[in-house]
Amino acid sequence: MTVSDGKLEVAIETLKKSGVRITPQRHAVLEYLLTSMSHPTADEIYKALEDRFPNMSVATVYNNLRILREIGLVRELTYGDDSSRFDSNMKDHYHIICEDCGKIVDFHYPTLDEIESLAEKVSGFEISHHRMELYGKCDNCAKVKVQS
Ligand SMILES: [Zn+2]
Ligand SMILES: [Zn+2]
Repeated sequence: MTVSDGKLEVAIETLKKSGVRITPQRHAVLEYLLTSMSHPTADEIYKALEDRFPNMSVATVYNNLRILREIGLVRELTYGDDSSRFDSNMKDHYHIICEDCGKIVDFHYPTLDEIESLAEKVSGFEISHHRMELYGKCDNCAKVKVQS
């Protein structure tokens, strides 16, 4: 596993600057998020790392994710169920979600800023952000359907 274009180094620098201690687990959680690109749940991160850190608990993973989120290295995605997913891609982007397997893929599109300014005008709200999700079937799930 390699992290492309020094993202891990940049993230580690951010951690250092914010005065957060870099424990081996914290390093591993961050590295996993930056390399997987799969929007894992805390449980999935835990399972991926438990061989390397037999003493680590799911609570430790959650705790690390919370700290990384507070520093702004990770964002938490909630989809109405009880397992949040975590995304280390902090650039504005949208998500495409597979209705069958739950796979989430990044989708880059110019941010729809006009929606926010229009909503502000018509509602008088101060809009902070918006989210949009696209749903469908991923490659794999679409193939399965054809075969059966
Ligand atoms: Zn799928
Ligand atoms: Zn994403």
